[in-house]
Amino acid sequence: MFQVITLFPEMFDGVLNSSMMWKSQQEGAASFAMINLRDFGIGPRQQVDDTPYGGGDGMLLKPEPLFAAVAKAKEADPTAKVLLMTPRGQRWKQSIAQDWSESDHGYIFICGRYEGYDERIVSLVDEQVSVGDYVLTGGELPAMTIIDSIVRLLPGVLGGAQSAEIESFSDGETLEFPQYTKPSEFNGLKVPEVLLSGNHALIAKWRADNSLKAE
Ligand code: SAH
Repeated sequence: MFQVITLFPEMFDGVLNSSMMWKSQQEGAASFAMINLRDFGIGPRQQVDDTPYGGGDGMLLKPEPLFAAVAKAKEADPTAKVLLMTPRGQRWKQSIAQDWSESDHGYIFICGRYEGYDERIVSLVDEQVSVGDYVLTGGELPAMTIIDSIVRLLPGVLGGAQSAEIESFSDGETLEFPQYTKPSEFNGLKVPEVLLSGNHALIAKWRADNSLKAE
């Protein structure tokens, strides 16, 4: 079960209800629940953010709504791991997606917004995760990226069991070989002859030779 704490739950609709993410729910391989941080806002205006102590630009997510939202998510799934989306976190990679796709507990994603969040939320967090060394406007795209990369590895989500095994980064460093589909010639551009040969040993060698090592 993937629960997401966000001020913008509607951002997830298209991504989680299309293609493989949609299929994963139909097949019972994954389930998703959005928790709107606004529901835990304070006062008549349901305030969720405030200015930083010590000064500085922008707004931070306040601790009370965040703590209340995590408590709510934990109620639904007490053993779930709490993940904080932050450029300061450990960099997301395929081997972590693989590990996490094999775990038997759920995940609670906290999506920061504006200039970030009150640091005290970290006391509830199991892992801080970054999707790369750049800054986005919120943790929603990182949460979607991480969810997508885990869910496609869950049993029954991708077509063949092999399709995830032989792809880029599955061994931590190799990038997939180039692939071609029909027609064998298009606008004068030809598919490498060996791939049409039916010779499995030669095809395997060509693919090995044409796989790249990641930097
Ligand atoms: N002031 C912060 C950036 C805030 S961006 C800083 O300088 O580090 C707003 C929110 O977007 C962050 O709190 C985080 O939840 C999310 N976010 C932005 N970039 C991200 C990244 N590369 N990985 C994960 N989350 C990110």
